[in-house]
Amino acid sequence: MRIDEKKDFGTRECPACASEVPANENRCPICRYEFPNPTPRQHGMKRWGALLMLALLLVLILAGVFR
Ligand SMILES: [Zn+2]
Repeated sequence: MRIDEKKDFGTRECPACASEVPANENRCPICRYEFPNPTPRQHGMKRWGALLMLALLLVLILAGVFR
């Protein structure tokens, strides 16, 4: 791994082919690898939904146990 002077512009290493990809690119131009962080808002919404479901499930389980 190396640290370049390009760092301040924002690049990240492609996990598939280890080439430097600009941070504003969602896909690696070399191997077409797609980075798993599209729009932060959508991702956050999805995560909160999953968390809410998990919490609800936990409450239901706890309610059943402590009855
Ligand atoms: Zn790549």
